[in-house]
Amino acid sequence: MSTTTNKIWLSSPHMGEGEFAFVKEAFETNWVAPVGPHLNGFENDLQAYTGVSHAAALSSGTAALHLALIILGIERDDVVLCQSFTFCGSANPIVYQGATPVFIDSESDTWNMDPEALEEAIKNSLAKGKKPKAIIYVHLYGMPAKVNEIQAIANEYEIPLIEDAAEALGSRINGVPCGNFGMMSVFSFNGNKIITTSGGGALLSQDQAYIKKARFLATQARDAAPHYQHSQIGFNYRLSNVCAGIGRGQMQVLEQRVQQRRANLTFYKEIFANVPGITFQEESAGSYSNYWLTAILIDLAQAGFSAESLRLALEKENIESRPLWKPMHLQPIYAEYPYYGANTSEYLFSNGLCLPSGSNLSTSDKNRIKETILLHISR
Ligand SMILES: *Cc1c(COP(=O)(O)O)cnc(C)c1O
Repeated sequence: MSTTTNKIWLSSPHMGEGEFAFVKEAFETNWVAPVGPHLNGFENDLQAYTGVSHAAALSSGTAALHLALIILGIERDDVVLCQSFTFCGSANPIVYQGATPVFIDSESDTWNMDPEALEEAIKNSLAKGKKPKAIIYVHLYGMPAKVNEIQAIANEYEIPLIEDAAEALGSRINGVPCGNFGMMSVFSFNGNKIITTSGGGALLSQDQAYIKKARFLATQARDAAPHYQHSQIGFNYRLSNVCAGIGRGQMQVLEQRVQQRRANLTFYKEIFANVPGITFQEESAGSYSNYWLTAILIDLAQAGFSAESLRLALEKENIESRPLWKPMHLQPIYAEYPYYGANTSEYLFSNGLCLPSGSNLSTSDKNRIKETILLHISR
């Protein structure tokens, strides 16, 4: 590894032209607080982009999911159904509430929540006299889940649906932006997401009461009084006005970022065009992914190399790639909790790789990635 080669990250922040001006304005007007005009502006931008009528900008996506569970009244020993194949931020808030996560496997088309396993888990839980209190499902790597099927099941059993769209800002289903497919939905603006506020998240809903409640809980649940009075436990979960300023700048370039990420997919498809045993996460009819990360499955027998060997070859050249999410039901911390499915997510985890997917990959970065992959294929 040459010392002059820069590290190529899996997905790094990519600022546009406008972010700094918003941040500067926050400093000049002294709105350096978790309140201020950029916060409202960023929330308006999110509402306008997604078409969801209400949004609360928060300190993280995990905080947004936590508030969603509190607003739905999730308490100790309640059952919450959660996609297993995801980042721990989807599941941890269930445990913050003392509730019990029940993990649901993925199907192999979208890699997201398997509706059949979901229904089986619901029936089983009902048979034990315990009605699940919520369903958390995910659009992994930006790929829309089988929303129609999942919504139909949630409606049939009357269980509130929380859409974890943390990775899916800019993705759509039949033209409708992700963020519209739950009673409440969540975005993340962590540093590696398609747009970032350095750290941040949002909770969205068509129901104004939910979002009003979220803002109240996110600012320590202050009662209406001149002094500090509290009748409920609150949280310090609001986004700062400075970070919201970054978010406003990022919203101006979101559509470009989606196109840049989708161009990464085309780039990798060309590289692997003649390699047997490589499959991509594919869109189905009506679904449009932001392709936050380009993820592939590698069939060792057909390709002649494994996901792990490719990862190591890239690492040697100072290029970051990453295995797919390790399913929650395989995590030491969650091993004791119920799981429904046929181990599709285990297969994905064992054979998949996320390739460098930043919207800011330069031509020389891409050449380096391409050379390294081609060399590994031909080795
Ligand atoms: C990033 C992410 C979260 C959590 O968001 P943070 O802002 O990092 O707290 C939740 N769910 C999924 C699927 C994510 O990718």
